[in-house]
Amino acid sequence: MGEVPVPRTDSVRVAVRVRPFSQRITIRDPRNEAHVKTFTFDLTYWSHDGFQKDEDGVLIPSDPTSKFAGQNSSTSEVFRDIGRGILDSAWRGYNATLLAYGQTGSGKSYSMIGFGTNKGIIPRVCEELFEAIGKQKENLEPQDRLAGSKPRAPPVRSLQNYSVMFSMLEIYNEQVRDLLSRTKIPGGLRVREDQQLGFFVEGLKWVPCEDYAQIEKLVEQGSKIRMTAPTNMNASSSRSHVLITIQFQQVFLDTALTKQSSINMVDLAGSERQRSSGSEGDRLREGSRVNLSLTSLGNVISALADSATGKKVLHIPYRDSVLTKLLQSGPGRETAGRHWIATLSPADICYEETLSTLRYAERAK
Ligand code: ADP
Repeated sequence: MGEVPVPRTDSVRVAVRVRPFSQRITIRDPRNEAHVKTFTFDLTYWSHDGFQKDEDGVLIPSDPTSKFAGQNSSTSEVFRDIGRGILDSAWRGYNATLLAYGQTGSGKSYSMIGFGTNKGIIPRVCEELFEAIGKQKENLEPQDRLAGSKPRAPPVRSLQNYSVMFSMLEIYNEQVRDLLSRTKIPGGLRVREDQQLGFFVEGLKWVPCEDYAQIEKLVEQGSKIRMTAPTNMNASSSRSHVLITIQFQQVFLDTALTKQSSINMVDLAGSERQRSSGSEGDRLREGSRVNLSLTSLGNVISALADSATGKKVLHIPYRDSVLTKLLQSGPGRETAGRHWIATLSPADICYEETLSTLRYAERAK
């Protein structure tokens, strides 16, 4: 069967973010750390609290006057480099994707979802989107409504309409669960394919949003539902993927033109190899399915990278897993911004996982 030629795509931007040491972390003899590997990525963010060993050889954060102090990269820096690009794609009517990949505890959720004082990239993207919409509306609103003043010119009609729709789902064991709905669907929601829309989740709840506060509530609600899922009884949220999607639509009333963009943001399952402890059968099956999504994602990303560097790519294997299906742009829709954050722990006990995260992320280049 002949394959449809794959158009050349833009490359994936890969950022690497290293989380700080936790309060007390044991390190092995530093003389064993003679492993030096060089990887090249687009952006790197270090969180270096400064550290020192206590009398037991345990690393503890050192005082704020240490030479490492102040080297923390904050989420606002990550957002400045990545989030703005995502919003820019959305305003231009292209899809954008942001994925966080790394072992459990390396800072994926911190970087992506965190709300409150440690706002992650997702809330920042949403907040800035609404801010920008507000500014656009202000510019288009009549300026001459000052009390008592007579309008000098007829009021300018707002020429654009905006709509923001929000969804949040979990993929666990290749099954989709709506995180905005408490209805339990045995076997999960179905992923279907439509000639015009591409892949979509049948029956998924889409909530129209007017402001950032609404999104903040929805994410909080979704995170709560996620925690109560049977899949999370053993703190196994690290074994599922969370996909948050914003559908942003701009309608230009004068020309009847529409710009539509999907922003897909994924907090991926922990990348660590699933170990065969505990209830063997189920865990193993689950592990291999988690890996199926991650393996398929790796294959898609490296095919995209090849295509971006001009190599002839016949086929991008989106159909191999639920996650990759949902990340594929529908027919006639283009993804202009693909961003990836690889999160790492600085602890040397995580060396193997760190190396495997970097190798995986390198496939995108
Ligand atoms: P993951 O989602 O990868 O399992 P988390 O985001 O839950 O990991 O991070 C684990 C812990 O480390 C959390 O307590 C989080 O607050 C902290 N943490 C992660 N990254 C950072 C960072 N860059 N700066 C400060 N704390 C962080």
